[in-house]
Amino acid sequence: MNAIQDNLKAVGERIEVALARAGRAPGTARLLAVSKTFAPEVIQKAYDAGQRSFGENRVQELVAKAPALPSDCEWHLIGHLQRNKVRQALGVATWIHSVDSPALLERIQRLAEEVGAAPKLLLEVNVSGEESKIGFVPDTVEAALAEMPAGPAECVGLMTMAPLGADERTLRSIFGGLRQLRDSLQDRLGMPLPELSMGMSSDLEAAIAEGATIVRVGTAIFGRR
Ligand SMILES: *Cc1c(COP(=O)(O)O)cnc(C)c1O
Repeated sequence: MNAIQDNLKAVGERIEVALARAGRAPGTARLLAVSKTFAPEVIQKAYDAGQRSFGENRVQELVAKAPALPSDCEWHLIGHLQRNKVRQALGVATWIHSVDSPALLERIQRLAEEVGAAPKLLLEVNVSGEESKIGFVPDTVEAALAEMPAGPAECVGLMTMAPLGADERTLRSIFGGLRQLRDSLQDRLGMPLPELSMGMSSDLEAAIAEGATIVRVGTAIFGRR
């Protein structure tokens, strides 16, 4: 086995152990391999080991690399999306985790219609209230969802990032906060929001304990960037 294959296996095991500890069914959190900064040849090794979902944080890099990989890869945009890059992003990404304003939501919906795309969207929420972080303030998510224009793009859940180096208690409170927000939005809006995208290489266990359905893991698979 090569290192990437080993790493994928190890991360897969971490996910299953965390699910079992949380009393959750096997396979209920899936792995998004974050391939940003890594070359297509490196990403191909993960593909050859069976991985199909990949996350990139820059549109330019996403559109440059995706054509070099097999067409059954599923591409997720996880970084901030500028409004003037939406059209390009929709050409490749079938998931966008980083929807962070009503204006962006509206533009994605309009262009998805125009180009015939039906992306799955996650609203990025700044649960920790850190000033440096982008994303919706928790209080503003309900209005954004309620006022989301109709169209082919579908909002399937929420995403968050915990601050680097946060301790276990802080991590649990941020990830738990995203889950509670999701639960209350589902109740209040009667809208299914099944996906919680949270947890990375260093904190995926805490995220899974709090209900993550997608963990976004880069370093633990591909090595240091
Ligand atoms: C880079 C990145 C990750 C992966 O982080 P690692 O610590 O390398 O696992 C996850 N989510 C987002 C939004 C990222 O930009």
